[in-house]
Amino acid sequence: MLVIRRDLVDAMVAHAREDHPDEACGVLAGPEGSDRPERFIPMTNAARSPTFYQFDSMEQLRLHRELEANDEVPVVIYHSHTATEAYPSRTDVNIAAEPGAHYVLVSTRDPQEHEFRSYRIVDGAVTEEPVEIVDAYDASIERFMLSNTGPDDVPDCR
Ligand SMILES: [Zn+2]
Repeated sequence: MLVIRRDLVDAMVAHAREDHPDEACGVLAGPEGSDRPERFIPMTNAARSPTFYQFDSMEQLRLHRELEANDEVPVVIYHSHTATEAYPSRTDVNIAAEPGAHYVLVSTRDPQEHEFRSYRIVDGAVTEEPVEIVDAYDASIERFMLSNTGPDDVPDCR
């Protein structure tokens, strides 16, 4: 399951719309071990293709160093499909090298409505996962705490 902030979803969709009809790609970085995407990092599609994406190799190298220095990992790796559904292609599966990442696909084939889906890709096997979009990560933690506060937890004032 991918829990993700709404502004990050909006940023990926906007990037996908901007680069349409070519595929857009990028990464959402987050603290190592958190599974929480926090930082939007759009990348250049070096292939500049409507059917394929490839991170620019210099950018990718720089990104790798930056993440290492910040103790961050690519929590989400996203790209767009501009004429087909938001499902990983055979090529996408072949180049998926991060078994711990959420692979997000945005389809811009419909000019009005976008598709937004997330997958795990491990050893060539694709598994779709549910996506929960939240306004803030803190809010979902608060909800969790509230749901665990029963009458027994109310302090007795008398
Ligand atoms: Zn693709």
